Amino acid sequence: MSLRLYNTLTRTEEDFRPLDPSGKRVTLYCCGPTVYNLAHIGNFRTFVFEDLLRRHMESRGHEVRHVMNITDVEDKIIRSIHESGEDLRSFTGRFEAAFLEDLDALGCLRPTVTPRATEHIAEIIAMIQKLEKNGVAYKAADGSVYFSIEKFPSYGRLSRLDRTQLKPGARVSQDEHSKEAYGDFALWKAWSERDGKVVWDSPWGRGRPGWHIECSCMSTRHLGETIDLHCGGEDLVFPHHEDEIAQSEAATGKPFVRCWLHSAHLLVDGRKMSKSEGNFFTLRDLLAKGFTGRELRYALVSVHYRLPLNFTLENLEAARQTLRRLDAWAERLREKAGGATADASKPGSLAAAFSGALDADLNISDALGNLFEALRESNRRMDGNELGAKDAAELWRDWKAVERVLGLPASDPAGAPPEIAALAEERKAARQAKNWKRSDELRDTIHAKGWSVKDSPEGYKLTKL
Ligand code: AMP
Ligand code: ZN
Repeated sequence: MSLRLYNTLTRTEEDFRPLDPSGKRVTLYCCGPTVYNLAHIGNFRTFVFEDLLRRHMESRGHEVRHVMNITDVEDKIIRSIHESGEDLRSFTGRFEAAFLEDLDALGCLRPTVTPRATEHIAEIIAMIQKLEKNGVAYKAADGSVYFSIEKFPSYGRLSRLDRTQLKPGARVSQDEHSKEAYGDFALWKAWSERDGKVVWDSPWGRGRPGWHIECSCMSTRHLGETIDLHCGGEDLVFPHHEDEIAQSEAATGKPFVRCWLHSAHLLVDGRKMSKSEGNFFTLRDLLAKGFTGRELRYALVSVHYRLPLNFTLENLEAARQTLRRLDAWAERLREKAGGATADASKPGSLAAAFSGALDADLNISDALGNLFEALRESNRRMDGNELGAKDAAELWRDWKAVERVLGLPASDPAGAPPEIAALAEERKAARQAKNWKRSDELRDTIHAKGWSVKDSPEGYKLTKL
């Protein structure tokens, strides 16, 4: 079965085929955090969904080049440092580091590249110059440069804007604005006193880039002019992604993104969790209440990404109970398997059913349904002493594959590709079963693939050779 994904651009589920003729390499761009404070768990719902997508594609054998930008210059950041007087880099650096720590705690694989907007200013300027040359950008009397949406006839295609409402000449300089106020948007913002020391020279005078242009620029720079997948939360469809399409396609004349994916919001009492509403939790708030990143990840990942998810602490309690049930089952399987190893040539039915369900636009409800059916059935067979060691080993191996796609391993070694992490997990299990021969074989395989694995009382450690 092929992977099918719901494309916001066409509002239909489509077969996913990467641009790479071999079908292997996939380019994935995810709009990253604006680092002006700690990301809340609503933001992380989106990042966890993107991680699930990536892990599922990797489990199907794709090589995913995953880019997530760090927005380290933007209206809210400037406002914050204007109030505190702190230097831009030291201010954003703190929140960027916290963000990456939280990603790790939530079991998200680090993106392949996390480029910062402030480190691409020359490229951003070059892209704006190209837009000027192509006749879609102009410098306004205030010294800022705007994108003229009138000159881009397909503006509004992604968000299905009513172009008859277009107000020629209307301009918006804020990075975030509503559909009611749409108009030409800022690519380059002329310096104003509020910007203080946050300023760069440009052909249009001193200023700073707008928010939207940074994603167009970094996507092209790190993934190419046309990419396979671009993700974000649904609030980014307009104006951010609409503007990204306009900028990129007007600059290159090529399609920007082949498939757009947007996740629904995390809600609190039916309203979007957001900083401005004040109805948010950070991961750290929940850790302080005694929950783990793994528990939050399960609560976030277990609801389909296009369905709204109302967050409560009871969700986390339920996630905790479910994980305990899964861990107890996995342990029981491992013991039952003893030293037996699964037949590598035979794909396990659980792994296949789980993966097949995710192929249908990441249908996590069906995927988890298959998992719990296997759990109930095998527990019943173990109760009746009817499950053989070989079957237990196969199920346990399948569970490890499922656990990896869900991003739930308690210790996913940061940086190691899933294939290596899987081999290391398998080796750990072989050692626990005192199967030294298998453990040595796996160490050699890991070594041949460019990694070393060392044991310590805390567990194993993987290092790139
Ligand atoms: P920001 O740092 O505000 O640019 O947001 C980072 C990501 O989080 C974007 O993809 C947003 O669409 C997403 N996001 C913001 N609020 C929520 C929410 N309540 N639920 C899900 N995703 C969200
Ligand atoms: Zn973006």
